[in-house]
Amino acid sequence: MERVRFAPSPTGHLHIGGARTALFNYLYAKKTGGKFLLRIEDTDLNRSTEESEKVIIEGLKWLGIHWDEGIEVGGEHGPYRSTERVHIYNPYVQRLLDEGKAYLCYCSEEELEKEREEALKRGEMPRYSGKCRNLTKEDRERLEKEGRKPVVRFRVPENELIVVDDLVRGRVEFNSNDIGDFIIVKSDGIPVYNFAVTIDDYLMKITTVIRGEEHLSNTPRQILIYKALGFDIPKFAHVSLILGKDRTKMSKRHGSTWVEQYRDAGYLPEAIINFLALLGWSPEGEEEIFSMEELEKMFDINRVSKNPAVFDIDKLNHINGIYIRNANIDRIVDLAIPHLINGGFITEEFAKSNREWITKVVETVRGGLSYVGEIVNHVGIFFGEEVKLENEEAQEVLKQEHVPALLDEFKNILLETEVVTIENAKDIMNEVKKRTGAKGKALFMPIRVAVTGQVHGPELVNILEILGKDMLIKRIEYVKQ
Ligand code: GLU
Repeated sequence: MERVRFAPSPTGHLHIGGARTALFNYLYAKKTGGKFLLRIEDTDLNRSTEESEKVIIEGLKWLGIHWDEGIEVGGEHGPYRSTERVHIYNPYVQRLLDEGKAYLCYCSEEELEKEREEALKRGEMPRYSGKCRNLTKEDRERLEKEGRKPVVRFRVPENELIVVDDLVRGRVEFNSNDIGDFIIVKSDGIPVYNFAVTIDDYLMKITTVIRGEEHLSNTPRQILIYKALGFDIPKFAHVSLILGKDRTKMSKRHGSTWVEQYRDAGYLPEAIINFLALLGWSPEGEEEIFSMEELEKMFDINRVSKNPAVFDIDKLNHINGIYIRNANIDRIVDLAIPHLINGGFITEEFAKSNREWITKVVETVRGGLSYVGEIVNHVGIFFGEEVKLENEEAQEVLKQEHVPALLDEFKNILLETEVVTIENAKDIMNEVKKRTGAKGKALFMPIRVAVTGQVHGPELVNILEILGKDMLIKRIEYVKQ
């Protein structure tokens, strides 16, 4: 059975790229009937935080990416947090030391820095010189007396071809001569990522490692460790980077990069999932809108491109707009209310006692929304008694000769009406038409502009119902001044 994992380092937010990696792992597990694990790789003590772990977990849950085993869920291969596994890593470190496949290194940061500088001066790629490779027991005792704390280095074999048969990138070759003896345990006794990940993937019986391309250069190191310990090597799939539209690595400059930012702006998780799935993977055919269930059946790692994926926010907005229009209206109202409160349009109390009215507003404008937070740019027309004419075009509309009489008649009919609803709004307009003789644009446009100040906008009948009799009369009086 296939077993895959998402193994974030809790050093920040859930990045869009991380979410895509998690999704591809999840979909791969679903498609193959396998298991998906969540493991937290917190070996970098300086940068890992509990807060970050929480944010990542919340983000995954919000997206609907659920794991079968790991953090919170448990399982038979735990614990699932690296720092709680140091006692598990230690015997493997000892084995490598005992077999001479690793050694203690006492070089100080300054010495290493000097080596690096000298290599660069010679125009060479800096790599560890191997200075501590063959220390005697006496050497070690002397260095320890000086108060030096050793790290553990992996003894990289010479002249070995290391091949990664990558499911996405094809055959990738490395030569061990390009890799210096690398650290596997830091002087604080904590193994580094490359070591911990190898032991964990082995013990957790991971069959396929799906992760970002930025880890491809770590893979030969991990393969060397698998070989040194006699472990079976899993399959690898390195998915490409995500680039901004200008083809540079996706960063803040390109807009929001964290899942939370999209959640807070009012993107729907299903839309993000749909969009992320298409970042690098493409289904057969033209269709682009897929539910998670559909993706679970269709996903195919062989159709993941090795070319960088371009993050196209317009495409995300387009997809999200579709999901917003098709979602249950109550859900969109729930998402919209905090934005309307933050935007200063309504208060919490108002939201509680006027849910039906807010629902009508949301229903009326949601067709134009790319994300729910955008609603604040569309609802200004529904609030306040004053009408702000948006531009010259709007002013011109109201300057037409027939308009004062038209608005008077509209007001008279409103006074005769008990409540304005979408249904009778049509009759009201017909009555204005009958009494004034105005029709088409000459009828609708002045009324639209008089009550909203704008020449474009949602359906007029919806606007009339939402504003209601009293507000409509007040606005007409306002523009007639
Ligand atoms: N902890 C690594 C990261 O957050 C993931 C490494 C891996 O998947 O092997 O980038």
